[in-house]
Amino acid sequence: MSDLNLPGRWHDALEKVKRWSRINSPWALHFNSGSCNGCDIELLATLTPRFDLERLGVKLQASPRQADILICTGPVTRQARERLLRVYEQMPSPKYVIALGACAVSGGVFQDCYNVVGRVDAVLPVDVYVPGCPPRPEAIIDGMVKLLAQLQAGEKVKSG
Ligand code: SF4
Repeated sequence: MSDLNLPGRWHDALEKVKRWSRINSPWALHFNSGSCNGCDIELLATLTPRFDLERLGVKLQASPRQADILICTGPVTRQARERLLRVYEQMPSPKYVIALGACAVSGGVFQDCYNVVGRVDAVLPVDVYVPGCPPRPEAIIDGMVKLLAQLQAGEKVKSG
């Protein structure tokens, strides 16, 4: 999109529309880099009508090529590290990362395991940390709201 070579005001208008749509309907990709599945189940619960994360416009997306936000659960295992990096590289910029759960934030109970690289920010730049083992849906919604507030304030407009 940035290669369209539009005149200045059209380029600015297009950037505004892209930013507005990103804030009002971010698409999120979930990646389990070694989680015990507890965090994954809480994330799914957050998407059900009871907690309704979609009311914030958040849509779970299957392909990294259309995702704005990478939600990462679990510590990063040696087996998952390359795949996690590949998925992140396939996402268009600007892209954002949420570390979901104690294991993603700090390594949690899997710290220092022989097959674990460590927490998510040892591999990727993380924008929002959501602690808890597993984090409750309210905490996940709070993390998403914090990321959206940062986007709204323009703090996290990064090139990737
Ligand atoms: S934070 Fe708790 S629930 Fe989530 S992956 Fe780690 S051990 Fe499992």
